[in-house]
Parts: sequence; C-alpha cells; structure tokens
Amino acid sequence: MTRYAEFHRRSITDRDGFWREQAALIDWQRPFDQVCDYSHPPFARWFVGGQTNLCHNAVDRHLQDRAEQNALIFVSSETGEEEVYSFRELHAEVQRMAAVLQSLGVKQGDRVLVYMPMIPQAAFAMLACVRIGAIHSVVFGGFASVSLASRIDDAQPTVIVSADAGSRASKVVAYKPLLDEAIRLAEWKPAKVLLVDRRMAPMERVAGRDEDHAALRQQHIDAQVPCVWVDATHPSYTLYTSGTTGRPKGVQRDTGGYAVALAASMKHIFLGQPGETYFSTSDIGWVVGHSYIVYGPLIAGMATIMYEGLPIRPDAGIWWSLVEKYQVTAMFSAPTAVRVLKKQDPKYLHQYDLSSLRALFLAGEPLDETTAKWIADGLGRPVIDNYWQTETGWPILAIANGIEPLPSKFGSPGFAMYGYDIKLLDEHTGEELTGANQKGVVVIEGPLPPGCMQTVWRDDARFVKTYWHSVPGKMVYTTFDWGIRDEDGYYFILGRTDDVINVAGHRLGTREIEESISSHPNVAEVAVVGVADQLKGQVAMAFVVAKDASGLTDAAARMKLEGEIMKTVDEQLGGVARPSRVHFVGVLPKTRSGKLLRRAIQAVCEQRDPGDLTTIEDPSALQQIKDLVCA
Ligand code: AMP
Repeated sequence: MTRYAEFHRRSITDRDGFWREQAALIDWQRPFDQVCDYSHPPFARWFVGGQTNLCHNAVDRHLQDRAEQNALIFVSSETGEEEVYSFRELHAEVQRMAAVLQSLGVKQGDRVLVYMPMIPQAAFAMLACVRIGAIHSVVFGGFASVSLASRIDDAQPTVIVSADAGSRASKVVAYKPLLDEAIRLAEWKPAKVLLVDRRMAPMERVAGRDEDHAALRQQHIDAQVPCVWVDATHPSYTLYTSGTTGRPKGVQRDTGGYAVALAASMKHIFLGQPGETYFSTSDIGWVVGHSYIVYGPLIAGMATIMYEGLPIRPDAGIWWSLVEKYQVTAMFSAPTAVRVLKKQDPKYLHQYDLSSLRALFLAGEPLDETTAKWIADGLGRPVIDNYWQTETGWPILAIANGIEPLPSKFGSPGFAMYGYDIKLLDEHTGEELTGANQKGVVVIEGPLPPGCMQTVWRDDARFVKTYWHSVPGKMVYTTFDWGIRDEDGYYFILGRTDDVINVAGHRLGTREIEESISSHPNVAEVAVVGVADQLKGQVAMAFVVAKDASGLTDAAARMKLEGEIMKTVDEQLGGVARPSRVHFVGVLPKTRSGKLLRRAIQAVCEQRDPGDLTTIEDPSALQQIKDLVCA
C-alpha cells in the first residue's frame, strides 16, 4: 500500500483519531469533547463542545509571527487599483467592518448578505461576519434581481453589504439598481444596506435604509472588536447553489469542521506554507472563492491575491506577471480560463519568471487533456485537477502531494481524498460497483468529512431528501455525478446525473433558466439543455414553443424574440445564465406521459445518438430540433 493509500485508509477506519490530529492545525478557544457525533445520520456534528472562530484562525493568530507580512493583495486590472494589506492592516480593517456591522444592528446568528464585486471590502465583510458570529451569505455579483431576491428571501439578512459597481472588460457593471430591484421583489426587507462607493456608477440612496461604508468606517477607525468564540458547529456561512429544482439551496457550513478541513487541505493538497502567496482566480461568489481566496490561504498564514478582471486584459500575461511580482507558490483556476489563455499568443507564458510557482490547481469542470497538456507544458509545472462541489467545500478527488507525490493521469482528478469514503453505485440496482472501469454514480458514505455542508439552510428535510438515501445499513450522499475508477484507483468524472449544467465552471440549474424564460409573455413552453462547447465546457441552449408563432415566419422576427428572451434572462438571473441560442419549435419532444426528453434533446444537439425513444410521443419533435441545430 502506498503512503497515501494508508493515509486515506486511516481517515476512514480511525476517523476520530485521524481528525483529532488534523484539528491541531487550528487554534481552539475551548477544546472539543467529541470528534464526530453521527448519532443522527446523515447529520454529522464535528468537534462537538469545541469553541473557535474562523476570523481568529485566518487573521488574529498570525499577528504574533507575521503581522507585517502580506495578507491580502488586491489587484484590479479593470480600474488599475493595487492594494496590499498586511495581517496587521487586515486585522484593523476587519475590526472596523465588524464595528460598522454591529452599529447597524448585526448580532451573533444574524445573516449578512454580501453582493459585491471583487474588492477587499468583500473579504473584510466576510471576515467581519464570522468574527462576530454572524452568518454571511455571498451572492455572486453576476446574478441579477430575481436570483438575488430569492436568496434574500431565503437568507433573511439583517444587513446587505454591496457596492455601486464592478467592472468587466472595462465596462461598468452597476450593482445598486439590481439590488434595489431585488429588494423590491423580495418579501424580506433588510433593515440596512451598507454601500461601498467606488465612484464608478451613480447610486440612489434610500433614506433610513442605505448607509455609506466610508463614513461609518471613519467613525469606527480605532475599533477593537474581539472575536466571538462560537461552537464548532455554529454556522459560518450559507452559499446558494443550483440543483434539479428551480429553488436554489442554501448550503450551510459550520465553523470548526470547516477551519480544520481547510487547514488540512492547505497542508496536504495545496502545499501552502506560511509567508507564501496563493493566487486563486475564482470569485468570492463561488465556493472556491470562499475556501481558497479568503479562508484557506489566510488560515495557512499565506498572502492571498484577490483579482478583479479578465485573464487577458491588459494582455494574456497579466496573471503570470502577478505570479512573478508576488512570488506566488500555488495557483488555482478553472479549465475555461486556461482555454481562454490558450487562444492567445503562447509567448505570454514565457515573459515572466514563474520559478516560485510549485503547481497549478484546476477545478470546477472537466479538464480536457489538450488544455491540461498545453498549460502543463507551457508552465513546466504540475497541473493538478481536483473535483469537488459547493456542498463539500474542499476537494473530494485530487492528488495529496503533501502526503505522497503521486503522478496525475490526464482526464482524472485523481484519488479519493482523505475523509471521503467514496463508492460507485449502479444506476439501476443501487449496488456498489467494485470492479475497475465500471460507470456508476459517485456517492460518499456518511458521515461527510469536516468542512462539508451541515444541512440546507432552514430545511433539514430538503437536505435529507435531496442528497441522501439508504443502502443496507448505511446512508450515502450522492454527488449527482457519474464516475469511473480505473485499475490504479484514479477516478474519472463523466458529468452530472441531474439537470445541472456547468458553463465555464459556473453551476446553473436548467430549471431556473427555464423558469425565467417562461416569464416572457410570448413563451408557452421551454426546454433548456447543456450542450458541449469547446471554450466553456458547456453552454445553455433553449428550445421555445411560442404562444403566438404567427409572427415568427422570418429570421428577423425570430432574432428579435430571441434577443428579448435573452434580455429577460439577463435581467432576472444575470448574464451567466443567458442561453447561447434560443431556437423556436412547434412542439417539444416529450414522453407519452408528458415528461420532457431533455437528455434526448441534449444528445441531438451534440450530434450523438439520442438512445431509446420508444416512449416518445411525437418523433417529429426531435427531428425538428435536429434540423435546427444541424442547419
Ligand atoms: P460547484 O458546486 O459549482 O463547484 O459545481 C460542482 C460540480 O462541478 C460537480 O458536481 C461536477 O459536476 C463539476 N466539477 C467540479 N470539479 C470538477 C472536475 N475537476 N472535473 C469534472 N467535473 C467537475
């Protein structure tokens, strides 16, 4: 058995002993009495009785040894801003923000919704929340009013922290009008809205509700706000993610388990050392941003880079210039970003000194071999694919080079990470597939390891119903992904089993997009499917039956309606969810019992065999789609 295989085996067979050791990587105010309470499966309570604080572990505990070292590096290639905060300065800013939030009435257990571009105040707000035991809920800045409103209603925040605008490709993206519209749509009304004014877009203020961040910060410039010690099981944040049903789920994370899981992953997987610099190109609106822009690197005593902008502006060398300038040792990005870079002149990969970089980690979507090879060869550094989900908070599959450097295989994110007891189940019988190269549903036997979701926010029943089922004697969590394991134990992920699609690493529910499209007055019926795309991995494609198709006889009329539908999605959900095409059809392919044949539509769009169609009601419906997409 290899060293890693033994490490993994122990994490399962001596679970408590294993995690007790990992727990020593963080500071505890009060030691825990029990490592894992799994007396009410599938609910796992980690480090029961222990008290700690995420902000203390990310910031305060480093003041003794590295107060003057870089902690947060903010670079915006959009505005030209570049700011570096040492741990001492970060500590001061977080306390100011904590005092501001307290002055607005935020107390332990309250929710604070963060709807922000990639600016330091977003990280200050997150850290300030966990400092005072408030629960943050970051909503990706690319989401628009309807998405935001549903999250406001679910999270019921006391305060929303936002800004006037972000910027993308030098275009100002105003946040405030979208936020105002979302608050208007939502049933829940936040008491206060705290606004960071970057002076990029005009903001209308609502008297009595909207507060100016800069003014309040000034009032609390000398604030000293101690960390509130919370139970290890106290929720640190919720983060919404898409699933099969239209309503997004609030993934709820604990405090102690998450801190331990991140500290362990920084050591074993990401090889992060205190004093070094970590650069994750994600966004704080996604789970990677939570775990590996904000918390993971800081917990490890590393500086973290927060980057606002595209990978190719001002040119395709921008990221590598930051690697050189800040001596980045580990970088984390997504395959789509690498595919964008791959379209640029390769000279940019060789213009900077990248000798500090030990590895590039990629996650969020399948990594194709060409992309992996191109970047691995270009950088001359290992590229480590890792597979996980918003729900798990840290990698399920990867290579734990900190334990044992094992070779990667192209197309595989690697092995089951320690703590994850992974099984592949037969789709039909539900039985475990133990042989090599058999395709099954990837499941994790409970309990989920520390750092994974505790439950669905305010909906334990939905957590159980959505993710868990019983197989004799145990409960298993489904990832909703297909996978295979080869004879050497490497896993390969083959796509989702549900109606979730992955556009440029962004997870979207096709049902959410369908709901939005249906709200257009001339849409009778719609089907949205994910279609393979060379650059983005997948794109959303919509097929619409119009209520009144009489005007759709010419291409110009169809284009006009297509544009209107795209605008509806932009305004309601945001540009990330916009379908790449909207096609108009007379009828959608359905089974005789009325079920939409999404998988058959997807197969036809990808020019694959649609499979068994014996239950289809009207075969011409699929033919019509074929004619459209192959035209
Ligand atoms: P999210 O919750 O947004 O991180 O999306 C999680 C989903 O993205 C997973 O269930 C997979 O379908 C997909 N995914 C994430 N990482 C990978 C990877 N390395 N390889 C293949 N698919 C991935």
